[in-house]
Amino acid sequence: MVNTEWTLVRGFKEKTLMSVVRKPITPKPPRTREKVLVILREQCKQCMLCIEFCPKNVLCLTDIYNRKGYHPVTACDIDACVNCEFCERICPDMAIFLADRKEAERAYKEGALEEGTEIPEFERDIPEKEEK
Ligand code: SF4
Ligand code: SF4
Repeated sequence: MVNTEWTLVRGFKEKTLMSVVRKPITPKPPRTREKVLVILREQCKQCMLCIEFCPKNVLCLTDIYNRKGYHPVTACDIDACVNCEFCERICPDMAIFLADRKEAERAYKEGALEEGTEIPEFERDIPEKEEK
């Protein structure tokens, strides 16, 4: 014979424990990064230090040549960037860094960036640049 009282108590305990251990499944809000990654293609010397040190494998080399004859770095997976600044700190040529999002967006939209400046996130999200 089943002990109904014990089954109910055990069921209650399991339920309570489950609600403590298991967090509710809720969709995460979209992540907004405070800064944006900026690459100065003409300053890159293809040393690949940033690629090696990026903890999220965001960076890779392009197929194009810059004026120095190197393949500059680009972002192959910009969504994975966590703004850790490792790339900025390791780059010996200051060819890659993080910039304030709003300032960078304004400069990008106004077309005020130097030639060869790449902001991978904007290249994807803001297709139209205003001509100066
Ligand atoms: S900021 Fe960090 S995660 Fe983003 S590209 Fe640079 S090293 Fe990678
Ligand atoms: S560390 Fe700097 S110079 Fe070296 S590949 Fe990266 S961006 Fe280019």
